[in-house]
Amino acid sequence: CGIVGYIGANDACPFLLAGLQRLEYRGYDSAGIATLRPSDQIRVTRVAGRVADLDAAVKKKSMAGNLGIGHTRWATHGAATAENAHPHSGGNGVLSLAHNGVIENYESLKSVLQSKGYVFHSQTDSEVVAHLIAECLKLSMVKHAGEVSINCYVEAVQDAISQLRGTYGLVIVFRDQADLLIAARCGSPLVVGVGKGEQYVASDTSPLIGFTDRIIYLADHQIAVIRPDNIQVLHRDQGRIRPDIKELTAD
Ligand code: GLU
Repeated sequence: CGIVGYIGANDACPFLLAGLQRLEYRGYDSAGIATLRPSDQIRVTRVAGRVADLDAAVKKKSMAGNLGIGHTRWATHGAATAENAHPHSGGNGVLSLAHNGVIENYESLKSVLQSKGYVFHSQTDSEVVAHLIAECLKLSMVKHAGEVSINCYVEAVQDAISQLRGTYGLVIVFRDQADLLIAARCGSPLVVGVGKGEQYVASDTSPLIGFTDRIIYLADHQIAVIRPDNIQVLHRDQGRIRPDIKELTAD
């Protein structure tokens, strides 16, 4: 239902939690965040409950990191439990993602992924996307063996979303890329907030107020490849496009 993301010089948690709070007005049944620092596992905290409960759970753990994503869930597939709350892990901790929307062909994708050995921990349609990107990343790394770069990660997301039917706003972090955040949109709104040495993602502009007033509204079939000091926008058919940065006005 609600999505936030942060990458940059500061700790991700304050923006993620404040942003999820501002998205509460949309309604939700559970919430979670995932954060990352270099050379470490992705850390995830999820609750079946309010953002205030998530905040309390986060304070009891070490969730420090300069990169992170967060989600408030309005369940469509699977009950409102902590296990079904986002972010979801893909490929045994290789990546973590938050998803808004509905994946219509998740059942067929899920059985293919299960036959390849992927183990599912939730009843959601969203977890399929996490494992699908992990599988595409594996294939991309084999294809580019010897010259693995950020392009493998971008290609993996492109390959995975080309197999999805339905709607999605996605934010994705990768365990081995502590300065990369990818956002992808089809039918579910996403905006990127442009900062100085830090960038933000959200499902609407409300979390960005007070953090930045420079906004890129992603369109369908666009993905944003977000680094602390640089944002690239790629379109499915047009390739790299020049992002149109708009000013967020007070109203
Ligand atoms: N379909 C997903 C789920 O049930 C995402 C729901 C949402 O947009 O919050 O977890």
